[in-house]
Amino acid sequence: MTYDPSCLFCRIAKGEAPADVVLDRTDLLAFRDINPQAPTHALVIPRDHIPSLEALSEGHAELVSNLVQAVNEVADQEGIAGGFRMVANIGSAAGQSVDHLHLHVLGGRTMHWPPG
Ligand code: 5GP
Ligand code: ZN
Repeated sequence: MTYDPSCLFCRIAKGEAPADVVLDRTDLLAFRDINPQAPTHALVIPRDHIPSLEALSEGHAELVSNLVQAVNEVADQEGIAGGFRMVANIGSAAGQSVDHLHLHVLGGRTMHWPPG
């Protein structure tokens, strides 16, 4: 496991920082966003420190599949399946503020397009 002690999401993944966990797997974790932008707003992260979606490679194929499956499971659990949004911000220009890969799961309200 790659762990960066200066990374907030690594610390959450290790249980060293608190989080409202909604899904807990050996290779990933999902928890509620501290500043929710919708009635349901969770983040799905790999336990490994992967800085962003761009850092993924072929070797991560199984992990990527598990992350997307986890997004669907969170949506099911939260009762938003069939109408939700998955978002990955990549880089500061897109609004990425935590440099540890995370998939936002947003739902429970009407989503608008285009995003800001
Ligand atoms: P980004 O802007 O990088 O795409 O998303 C980072 C997300 O992490 C933001 O939605 C922000 O609210 C959330 N966040 C930042 N710090 C914490 C924290 O300490 N705990 C939790 N649960 N979420 C956080
Ligand atoms: Zn990290």
